Amino acid sequence: MTGDQVRQSFLDFFRERGHTIVPSAPLVPGNDPSLLFTNAGMVQFKQVFLGAETRPYARAADSQKCLRISGKHNDLEQVGRDTSHHTFFEMLGNWSFGDYGKRDAIAWAWELLTGVWKLPKDSLYATVYTTDDEAEGYWREVTDIRPDGISRFEEENFWEMGDTGPCGPCSEIHIDRGPEACDKQGTAHRCEVNGDCGRFVEIWNLVFIQYNRDARGALTDLPAKHVDTGMGFERITAVLQGVPSNYQIDIFRRIIASAERLSGKRFGADPRDDVSLQVIADHARAVTFMVAEGIVPSNEGRGYVLRRLLRRAARHGKLLGLGKPFLFEVVREVVATMGNAYPEIVATESTIRDVVRTEEERFAVTLDRGLSLLAAEVERARAAGSTTLPGEVAFRLSDTYGFPLDLTEDILAGEGMVVDRAGFDAAMEEQRERARAAQRFADAAAAPEVIGSSVATRFVGDRIAEWESEVVALAAGKESRAVAREGDEVDVITAETPFYAESGGQVGDRGWLVSDAGARVEVLDTFKIAPAVVAHHGVVRQGAISVGDRVRLRIDAARREAVRLNHSATHLLHAALRNRLGGHVKQSGSLVDAAHLRFDFSHHKPVGADELHAIEDDVNAWVRANAEVTSEEMSYDDAIRAGALAFFGDKYGDRVRVIRMGDFSTELCGGTHVARTGDIGLLQLRGESGVAAGVRRLEATTGEGAIAAVRREQGILGGLVELLKAGEGDARSKLEKLLGDLRDKEKRIAELQGKLAGGATRDVLADARHVDGITVLATRVDGLDDRGLREMADRLRDRIGSGVVVLGTALGERAVLLAAVTKDLTGRYHAGNIIKQLAPLVGGGGGGRPDFAQAGGKHPDRLDAALAAAYELLGAGSGQAS
Ligand SMILES: [Zn+2]
Ligand SMILES: [Zn+2]
Repeated sequence: MTGDQVRQSFLDFFRERGHTIVPSAPLVPGNDPSLLFTNAGMVQFKQVFLGAETRPYARAADSQKCLRISGKHNDLEQVGRDTSHHTFFEMLGNWSFGDYGKRDAIAWAWELLTGVWKLPKDSLYATVYTTDDEAEGYWREVTDIRPDGISRFEEENFWEMGDTGPCGPCSEIHIDRGPEACDKQGTAHRCEVNGDCGRFVEIWNLVFIQYNRDARGALTDLPAKHVDTGMGFERITAVLQGVPSNYQIDIFRRIIASAERLSGKRFGADPRDDVSLQVIADHARAVTFMVAEGIVPSNEGRGYVLRRLLRRAARHGKLLGLGKPFLFEVVREVVATMGNAYPEIVATESTIRDVVRTEEERFAVTLDRGLSLLAAEVERARAAGSTTLPGEVAFRLSDTYGFPLDLTEDILAGEGMVVDRAGFDAAMEEQRERARAAQRFADAAAAPEVIGSSVATRFVGDRIAEWESEVVALAAGKESRAVAREGDEVDVITAETPFYAESGGQVGDRGWLVSDAGARVEVLDTFKIAPAVVAHHGVVRQGAISVGDRVRLRIDAARREAVRLNHSATHLLHAALRNRLGGHVKQSGSLVDAAHLRFDFSHHKPVGADELHAIEDDVNAWVRANAEVTSEEMSYDDAIRAGALAFFGDKYGDRVRVIRMGDFSTELCGGTHVARTGDIGLLQLRGESGVAAGVRRLEATTGEGAIAAVRREQGILGGLVELLKAGEGDARSKLEKLLGDLRDKEKRIAELQGKLAGGATRDVLADARHVDGITVLATRVDGLDDRGLREMADRLRDRIGSGVVVLGTALGERAVLLAAVTKDLTGRYHAGNIIKQLAPLVGGGGGGRPDFAQAGGKHPDRLDAALAAAYELLGAGSGQAS
């Protein structure tokens, strides 16, 4: 039975028993922010068990894709080194939501294993919870399991979701793979169920969710009882295919075979190569499924897990002697092998290969240098009699060479060495401390102590253009001031302000502060000098301003309006990018001013012209929809739950502002926004470029700026069309024709110039010799091209009346020889034959008609010799000169 057939027969079996077959949930859990990856079949049903959701079916079965990488320092090193640990794996499961119970769950499990899959009944064992007489009773009643095949366990047979919540006893099915499968022989070990050796392996866990545990730890009966089962797909397939290792099932063998082909290594030949092949096969699967869901390599969260897997695989490729990126090729086999069951990896194959290849290429730059640094440090530690690598070395490898800690540990494991983890953590903490200190220094630039720590500014809102408030502090540079006079550059701090302080890539407002006493301060920029203190930075243009003055604060409303439009458009652009390019797109920066907007985002390749048009069309359609833009304050957690996009690297307080634009965009944002999307008017993309590996940049204009840009371009176009005296439709073809004519004329001019030059330098006819009443001329005429040379030959032939002309010229690296015979002599001399004899002298060949022939050669330096030979050939050697 193939792996695909195992999966299908499981689903068919439960479909026939009234189960709805549901698709696998994504690896990235949609409803559980506490979980990095879906790690079990029940994840998508958690809310059903908790009673918070219902489903239209009471019985379900599926094959769930799972990813397990535990903890910060995890057991990733183990993957590939044994027969059963995987990062990515599939979990087969069947569920009852308040429908059937223990009896059916046990009976069907037994029927599938022994009736359909024909596993020998004698080799199967069941375990039940210590007090679960009911489950044991059903095992004896509805199956013919061997009488001594049931045993009871305490903690192994009780399942809990967490400290509180749904829980219950479970019943596991184990299979005896025979005494030879035991890997602990000869020790004090006893071979038995839950004996922790390779002989008895658990293949299926049936969980009976029947209790709720409250905060005091007490169990109460649930109103509805559920069944939740899980069977590791790779393991059951290994059992059914009769192979001792998960890596020997057909699916893995095909993927490993692809790595064998690329590396020239053979699986089973060398245990060390086997580990590398297994690591590559495992990680290729995980990477394929992760990238298919839009995860891209990064330095945090899921992206970092992906990066670690890619880099570990790259290093094992190196161990196999693979010098070039290879994993993206293995991905092809993963897709071929698993695409039937999971079509999403077929649909995204080219993206997956691009992302994997890019990351492989990026790591290749530092892998070798990191490896040689590590080798040197291992030597040094050895020489000092230590088996521990200093923590700061591991940190340097991670910080400078991109070696994740577990990769370093993985490499050291092969050397019998470990990393000083405490030292690593200390080095990392030290770097964080340095970063924090630098940040504090930056924050203190216009030190709050200058203006007094009690000062704070309240922003009155982004729909207000003018406001009145009191000057609470003045500062010039690092000094506090009581008064600032005409011509002074000054920071004015007021109790309240309508001025937006530069933040999140949106520029600060400009405008005027006008005091009751008639002082006028032109505000050139607005920024925060402390989290709650806004400085209006500008110049006193008239009068004097003092602390305590009442001022009217007027923003430059037109400029603010332009900025508002551009900023609001970034929300729509972000949504359109995710819509067209995929959920991996995340804003990585933006800069918005009155004239234009710039939007940087994560994406691994240039955005094509068609995609750009589609993105522009999306945004403009949303603009025309003129949807309402709303702003709402809520807690960060509520905002994320409501689906708001938040950006890594941005700092958010407890309370955040959620900006919604129709139903197409929801983002956390503190910027200034339009009231309706229609206010944006028009968005025009002006350019797309790359700013860093994996980061693209779009530039655009909106509103009046976009209209002005269109008008400018129309003006240029209109002017050109008028100049060309063409209609819009044929302007292009007319211009092309003009340019073509121009090229032809330039060429002709060059030829004529060559001719003039040749004629002016010397009179070539002076070289003519006369033999037997005919004229023979063999000479060099440099500076002409082929066509010029032919014309000159024609002209010379006319001039000599009766004779032979041989011309030679050097055209760059090429020699050209040409012979012409006047019509009356073609009976005696054959131009083709003359050339045939001369051409070899310049390293070429050629021939032609009796009256005209030409040849090229690759030795222009031998032209003079060839021309001298021409005189000899024609009986006009030096002795016979006229
Ligand atoms: Zn054993
Ligand atoms: Zn915004």
